[in-house]
Amino acid sequence: MKWVLAKVQELCPICESNHFEDESHFLIYCNKYSILRDEFYRKMEHIVPTFKQLSSLQAIGELMTLQIIIYINIQLAKFISSCFDLRNTNVSLSNQTYAT
Ligand SMILES: [Zn+2]
Repeated sequence: MKWVLAKVQELCPICESNHFEDESHFLIYCNKYSILRDEFYRKMEHIVPTFKQLSSLQAIGELMTLQIIIYINIQLAKFISSCFDLRNTNVSLSNQTYAT
């Protein structure tokens, strides 16, 4: 999977953690995506029954390994797309707050 976030490290724009918005923060740690992440993980448990027992880092590694399964690709793309939608909405709202 080719990562699409900016190469320049910036703080996550939608949570107050003061963590850089890198791949692990976006996919694993940011609490603003927890509902989307939980939903995605539930879907993955149907394919990989041990998914819930893996650490978050192991789970993401497992997903990258299993990308040959088209269903996982689609669900991963939907999860990331939903996170980006949420992110962009929050960033947009944040910018409006500063503009007014
Ligand atoms: Zn965050």
